Amino acid sequence: MSKILVTGGTGFIGSHTVVELQEAGYDVIIVDDLSNSKAEVVDNIEKITGKRPEFENFDLSNRADVLNFFLRHKDIDAVIHFAAFKAVGESVYKPLEYYRNNLNSLMNILESMKFAGVRNLVFSSSCTVYGQPEKLPVTESTPRLPAESPYGNTKTVNEDIIRDFCAAEKEINGLALRYFNPIGAHPSSLIGESPVGVPNNLVPYITQTAAGIRKELSIFGNDYDTPDGTPIRDYIDVVDLSKAHVVAIRRLMEGKNKSNYEFFNVGTGRGLSVLELVNAFKKSTGVDLPYKIVGRRAGDIVKIWADTTLANTELGWKAEVPIEQTLLNAWNWEKKCRGIR
Ligand code: UDP
Repeated sequence: MSKILVTGGTGFIGSHTVVELQEAGYDVIIVDDLSNSKAEVVDNIEKITGKRPEFENFDLSNRADVLNFFLRHKDIDAVIHFAAFKAVGESVYKPLEYYRNNLNSLMNILESMKFAGVRNLVFSSSCTVYGQPEKLPVTESTPRLPAESPYGNTKTVNEDIIRDFCAAEKEINGLALRYFNPIGAHPSSLIGESPVGVPNNLVPYITQTAAGIRKELSIFGNDYDTPDGTPIRDYIDVVDLSKAHVVAIRRLMEGKNKSNYEFFNVGTGRGLSVLELVNAFKKSTGVDLPYKIVGRRAGDIVKIWADTTLANTELGWKAEVPIEQTLLNAWNWEKKCRGIR
């Protein structure tokens, strides 16, 4: 059976992807330095799938450690690279840490893949590379715009690194998935999103407010050029998103890719405003959610959603989980973490 290295495999999207890979029959080895996740995630993955993934704890920005890892593991068939710093605001204050960590990790992995003869890489990119597009929905040919933050720029530059590396190394295949807004949790409530400190993202803030940990949700602006004035995003269920990685891996391993560097949008194709999401949460959970409208958040774009035609046709993938179910899963996970019945 093929073995997949999942970097960042104890993180939010990584852990859900490990589950989907195992359920599709792949063996998994996780590398994560636990800088933003907990070792218990490995136990919880095992509870879901009945199979314990291998796990190693080290920092992928250390070149010698990465080379050494690939020397010790000659049975790896493909890599899914999630491990990265991801706090947009923090990246503005710590740009060098973000560039050093996010760029070096990828370069170390690519170099080691070449050295070890590992041919296939799936990379977690983001719709942040599109900035505020002029035309919606965004297709893969929508031009990328200059990044709004050092974090965003690491996604753009890392895509370029993979593109250029694959142009030079014809035997290596790279595939970038540009995620829209990943939300939700595994329906088992055994894994989910666990932000450290005050959440930056909307759905963890909503579930923490519903759990009584935050007094109220602040909605950052209702004077945007959208039907209800609040910004629009394409919220993608984390299990659906994880399944996109499984089909991407299969595509590369079966040699079905059309070129040795490809990239795909991974979203639902549907835009929801902040108020629509808040109302969907109330409807699906029955929990009231106190909120107030406050000023705009610096750097927020007005609206974005995906054209998913390419992922639908080429990968044979599409988002399936209804938003109400996704929000209910996120709420059940929050309740589980807080001991709420
Ligand atoms: N948002 C909000 N209150 C919050 C967090 C987010 O109103 O406490 C809004 C934010 O302005 C944006 C949307 O929710 O319009 C999604 O924000 P998130 O940070 O989750 O994702 P991103 O901005 O990266 O798309």
